[in-house]
Amino acid sequence: MPDALLAAPARDAGIAFVAATTTDLVAEIQRRHDLWPTASAAVGRLTTGAVLFGASLKGNERISLQIAGSGPLRTLAADAWLLEPETIGARGYAHNPQTDLPVDARGKFDVAGAVGSGSLQVTRSSDVGQPYVGVVPLRSGEIGEDLALYLAQSEQIPSVVALGVLANPRGIAAAGGLFARVLPGTDERTVMELEKRAGALPPVTSSIAEGASAYDLLLQLAGDWALGPIHRRNVRFACRCSREKVEAILLGLGADELLALTRRPDGTEAICEYCKQRYAFTPGEVEALRARL
Ligand SMILES: [Zn+2]
Repeated sequence: MPDALLAAPARDAGIAFVAATTTDLVAEIQRRHDLWPTASAAVGRLTTGAVLFGASLKGNERISLQIAGSGPLRTLAADAWLLEPETIGARGYAHNPQTDLPVDARGKFDVAGAVGSGSLQVTRSSDVGQPYVGVVPLRSGEIGEDLALYLAQSEQIPSVVALGVLANPRGIAAAGGLFARVLPGTDERTVMELEKRAGALPPVTSSIAEGASAYDLLLQLAGDWALGPIHRRNVRFACRCSREKVEAILLGLGADELLALTRRPDGTEAICEYCKQRYAFTPGEVEALRARL
């Protein structure tokens, strides 16, 4: 079943529900970065969070999530944007992809231990205007709870965020997430009902591993709340890098640095930290760039 993102409002209450399956997306990231299990769980959760937050993206808008932590993963980043009106692209990485910690007392990945303490930054941007940036300290390091805390503190939106990645030695078995946010003007009782509902849900990954689709997850999340119109988007791995962007970075090094690079007999290589794509430049190609300055 391909990854999907479904969003729908509650028909008779001020809540917006979002559910996503991201198994293929997280598996692709795991393969590209050779993420070890705890790192897979952390990067997979953050990237799934970017996809869920991306449910409201329009046009050229992008959402970027960054964690700077004291744990062995150090920094984590993920972003999501629209590849086409009905397809969301996402990518993610960790500074230390080969991070793996023993599972905790409940047999769960110690994502909080791998992330440590630090901060979460959320950036909403588009091709025009200033980006909107919010930063909150990490509360749990489990990522889902931290994203909900961000929405509460920075955007005054009560929400529930549940993220899950099930990794095994062969790769990613299941990944996905749920997100419900309370719309402005909704009463406190609805917020409490939503929190109660979220607390009673089975783990997202158990449902996906048992074959649940994004639609099944959305129905699970909504429970007794009837849904309004459902908006569906495809989800897939993508990157924003290109040879032109790498050339611009090389040009930014300046003439002296480029001259030094032309003297490297094997040429110059740049690797995108998000997708691991290699961009190779022969000494002659670097010289041609230098000539543009
Ligand atoms: Zn890339």
